[in-house]
Amino acid sequence: MTKCDKCSSRAIIFQRYSGMRLCQSHFYDDVRRKMRQSIRETGIFGHGAKVAVALSGDRKSSAMLHLLRDIFARRRDLEFVAILIDEGISGYRPGGLDSSRALAERLEVPHMTYSFQDAFGTTTDEIALGKKSPCESCRAMRNSLLNQISSEIGADALALGCSLDDLAHEIFKFYIRGDIDGLSSIQNPNPCNQQGNVEVIMPLRRVPEREALLYAVSHTLLPRGCGACPHSKDAVSIEVRRSLSEFESRHPGTKYSLLKSFERITELSYSENFLAGNCEP
Ligand code: SF4
Repeated sequence: MTKCDKCSSRAIIFQRYSGMRLCQSHFYDDVRRKMRQSIRETGIFGHGAKVAVALSGDRKSSAMLHLLRDIFARRRDLEFVAILIDEGISGYRPGGLDSSRALAERLEVPHMTYSFQDAFGTTTDEIALGKKSPCESCRAMRNSLLNQISSEIGADALALGCSLDDLAHEIFKFYIRGDIDGLSSIQNPNPCNQQGNVEVIMPLRRVPEREALLYAVSHTLLPRGCGACPHSKDAVSIEVRRSLSEFESRHPGTKYSLLKSFERITELSYSENFLAGNCEP
């Protein structure tokens, strides 16, 4: 039996980037610690706040909602509302929506569902017709709708279930394309990157995807039968994701380094904008 590096219990995970083997209890502590760090940086949870949580029927957003409820279990001044988006992807989204509603009810979080069809008069299935990949449009419409709804319900923040891998992938993709506008469009807690009036936060930004999934599996937060999106065929994204994962396996910690470098650039850019009077303090 492989033992936990912090106690004598059986290890359930080995983190190559930290060199640590952790048992279930210390693994949960570690995930909560990473999440708390990201949450602290937002400054949102220090006082009463209403937080819209984007629930997309996958394990990451399910883990995020579960962790938020767990970490803030005693905070009566915080209000969470789960927002579900139906992009109109047959054979995929209905299962995710059912699982998300069941989870929100299990965690006693009010939830609301909005559809692309009602908001934009079209669906991702329709956009996909004749297109190589509808992902860019799908993402933009989803973000826009999430932000609009969060604003309408008076939320102070919108929480997205993006993991370390998601962010590192986006950052890496924009770096290798030399796309500075794309880089600056990545939402982060910096006030310069708010969407509308609602601050976008990513509580899982320091949690690797594999750990978010393990957390979800350990807590039986398993969306039923939704599988993979049938439109996830963006060749560049798949190649970038694969290359980055190969690099990470040869050089553990690469994804954290990408995130740190991006955060540093953002800080510097924020300082410059702040000094130039372009950002509110
Ligand atoms: Fe939308 Fe692409 Fe994600 Fe499918 S994989 S839900 S089309 S962004």
